[in-house]
Amino acid sequence: MNSNRPLIIDTHTHLCDRVFANDRATVLIASRTIGIVGVITVSETLKDAKINIKLADIHPEILPAAGLYPGVVDLKQAEQLEEFIIKNLNRLVAIGEVGLDHWIIKDEAEREIQHSIFERFIELSLSTDLPLNVHSRSAGRHAIEMLLEKNVEKVQMHAFDGKASSAMKGVEAGYFFSIPPSIVRSRQKQNLVKQLPLESILLETDSPVLGPDPEKRNVPANILIGAEAIAEIKAVPVEQVLETALENTCRLYGETERFQKFKAEVLKLENS
Ligand SMILES: [Zn+2]
Repeated sequence: MNSNRPLIIDTHTHLCDRVFANDRATVLIASRTIGIVGVITVSETLKDAKINIKLADIHPEILPAAGLYPGVVDLKQAEQLEEFIIKNLNRLVAIGEVGLDHWIIKDEAEREIQHSIFERFIELSLSTDLPLNVHSRSAGRHAIEMLLEKNVEKVQMHAFDGKASSAMKGVEAGYFFSIPPSIVRSRQKQNLVKQLPLESILLETDSPVLGPDPEKRNVPANILIGAEAIAEIKAVPVEQVLETALENTCRLYGETERFQKFKAEVLKLENS
């Protein structure tokens, strides 16, 4: 990906969400004008995962992922998603979002099922070599401990809300942490970025949520707001944040088949 202006990949979005039903193409054109060439679109359900594959056929910048939101404690659907992932291996760039959510699930028995579902997706990541795009609300330390225990290497912790000290254990293991535009209103995210080396940071928007204004629909184009906040904290030019984040994204996702095809398409576009 050689270009004079930094190219950007939004590493965690929900573009399959129905709030984008009427203007998804317009949203993607707006993203493209600021340099966004790839948008990783995660799923929360099997239904989302199927939509994401279809969207990727229509929009070349959509990089589909398949996973089960940890708020959905449903072993049967987890099994169906596993089958779906295995069947669509060459189409997917990641398993996600998967993980732990102790904020939504408070019941101990349900949490146990949630943990066992996460464990299965971790095993699937190891056997398929697909990176994990991890959600870990109010459970950051637990999620990182589980990942470390299983010796997983390809990990993106999305919108990590835990302590920076827990995050640093992930950093040591080579995990990446994606930062959303809501950093402008989150002291916790600002502190996290202070601690994280730039080499461990990815950019995401989590569109349609986690925008700079919680009342407004978030879009991938807001990714620059997050990048600028990181640049200010790190006291480096925003271009350096964008370039390093892109390198980091390629380090994590670069080997998946779908990502390789996407890179070839982007190169064609850039050279045309
Ligand atoms: Zn998300």
